[in-house]
Amino acid sequence: MNKRILVTGGAGFLGSNLCGRLLEQDHKIVCMDNFSTGSWRNIAPFLDNPNFSLLKHDVTEPTLLDIDQIYNLACPASPVHYQADPIATLKTSVLGALNVLEMAKLRNIRVLQASTSEVYGDPDIHPQPENYWGNVNPIGPRACYDEGKRSAETLFFDYQRQFALPIKVIRIFNTYGPQMQLADGRVVSNFIVQALTGQNITIYGDGMQTRSFCYVDDLVSGMVAMMNSGADVVGPINLGNPEEFTMRELADIVVEMTNSRSRIIHQPLPIDDPRQRRPDISRARQSLDWNPNVALRDGLVRTIAYFEDMLAEQTRAAS
Ligand code: NAD
Ligand code: UDP
Repeated sequence: MNKRILVTGGAGFLGSNLCGRLLEQDHKIVCMDNFSTGSWRNIAPFLDNPNFSLLKHDVTEPTLLDIDQIYNLACPASPVHYQADPIATLKTSVLGALNVLEMAKLRNIRVLQASTSEVYGDPDIHPQPENYWGNVNPIGPRACYDEGKRSAETLFFDYQRQFALPIKVIRIFNTYGPQMQLADGRVVSNFIVQALTGQNITIYGDGMQTRSFCYVDDLVSGMVAMMNSGADVVGPINLGNPEEFTMRELADIVVEMTNSRSRIIHQPLPIDDPRQRRPDISRARQSLDWNPNVALRDGLVRTIAYFEDMLAEQTRAAS
């Protein structure tokens, strides 16, 4: 059945990919965004679609809409952006969660929280299962995001316990793909843009830290499967691709795939940068029958093509 669905953060990287998928399924979408890290370009293809409406609104301000489901994605996700105004980041996570939960309670509808692998901090357990409570520095520069997302999870589970609200919580591991901003600041977009423009490729630290990279289409399939799963599937559920790479390996792959002449250089490792990350996705496999299908090199082919287009557009606009 077609639904009226609110996507907060719908002009961002994941949000715009999610809006696209839900529109393909003939749902009516309300995209709420304050455009702090999102872009008009991401939603431009939807603006003529009568099933798409845009609400320029800050999720920290309460609102009530006539909707059937909520995906709560509003929050900057790149360390550079979430650390630029840490207080705003914490408010977005906590007040944003509170506001969507209140709306869901008044409407008695499902609400899905886009949580993160950052709730595991710099993990002592590897790979990370959902019952691991994490190793987070509560007062460091990443805390505005990590603790904000942890508090948001707390609110979600308290609304479930206190009001029997139908919540869904996913913990997203590093995801990449088209619709990321050129200046997003995360590693995949940085390396690709640097490689395509002949700039130095900046590895932070020795590059032996690891991450597991999920292609956006796989992630969106997991999100939608979670939202539409049985009432007993509440989460938290890890969503990510368990293939694990060091940042050195990633840099080498990107250089090779772009035939780049960029030099790899090293810059200081940011404070509290997690040493390793890899999701245990047994729960997602069992509960959602979900598995990521796109291997890193296949996802990078599509992402490199996207950034080539973005850079060509930029050059055309400048000339
Ligand atoms: P993004 O920065 O591209 O998108 C975030 C969107 O939220 C942007 O459009 C931004 O303008 C909007 N936004 C920010 N603050 C807002 C506010 N106060 N009110 C309204 N809109 C606001 O990031 P993304 O990668 O698309 O991440 C989306 C969500 O997924 C975030 O909640 C993030 O924490 C979560 N997540 C993403 C990843 C990933 O690898 N991409 C990993 C873990 C979790
Ligand atoms: N990183 C890097 N060079 C960059 C950007 C990031 O080496 O230009 C590293 C960063 O220090 C981290 C990893 O890549 O170890 C992933 O960083 P990202 O910002 O993508 O996400 P995180 O998982 O840290 O939130």
